[in-house]
Amino acid sequence: MKLLEERIRQDGVVKPGNVLKVDSFLNHQMDVDLFNEMGKEFKRLFARHPINKILTIEASGIGIACIVAQHFNVPVVFAKKAKSINLDGEMYSTKIESFTHKKVYDVIVAKKFLQPEDHILIIDDFLANGCAVDGLIDLIRSAGATVEGVGIAIEKGFQQGGDLIRSKGIRVESLAIVDSMDCDSGTLTFRS
Ligand code: 5GP
Repeated sequence: MKLLEERIRQDGVVKPGNVLKVDSFLNHQMDVDLFNEMGKEFKRLFARHPINKILTIEASGIGIACIVAQHFNVPVVFAKKAKSINLDGEMYSTKIESFTHKKVYDVIVAKKFLQPEDHILIIDDFLANGCAVDGLIDLIRSAGATVEGVGIAIEKGFQQGGDLIRSKGIRVESLAIVDSMDCDSGTLTFRS
């Protein structure tokens, strides 16, 4: 999606450790008009899928997921990160290692919000090593629900997450795929 690539080139900052900072339009301040264009594009890409729910993970997936959901007219569920939890049988849970914080979180969703008949689109801001998306897939499968696909704003194509998720036979659509980035020069290349 050209609009997103241009915005990343203009406002993204490449940080050491393979981190792309997009605070000014996606992760802190949010450009809702841009999110809306992203929502339109995901709707076009997944138009043939019978999606009835969107699943994301707190915190930075929530804003995008809500705008995307308006294009599908479906609810959004976000998986919650919890450091210590009482697993009382009312929750599905999985473990996710955070790429940016290098911590392992227990991530939970109430069972009542994931049902076997659900057809779910996963939405997140970044795909890096694939832990977050893999954890969300695990939650969906625990519920016996169907993963219809994964919609990502920015995939870092030089990390393994995209290959990992696609190798499971799951459709992954990323609106911008960064193939390389260099923190010294600040240069970025996108997959065409
Ligand atoms: P993964 O689980 O695929 O390794 O990482 C995905 C998660 O880590 C995303 O939910 C996102 O919040 C965060 N993340 C991974 N890489 C980056 C990055 O380069 N920049 C930012 N801002 N977040 C990232």
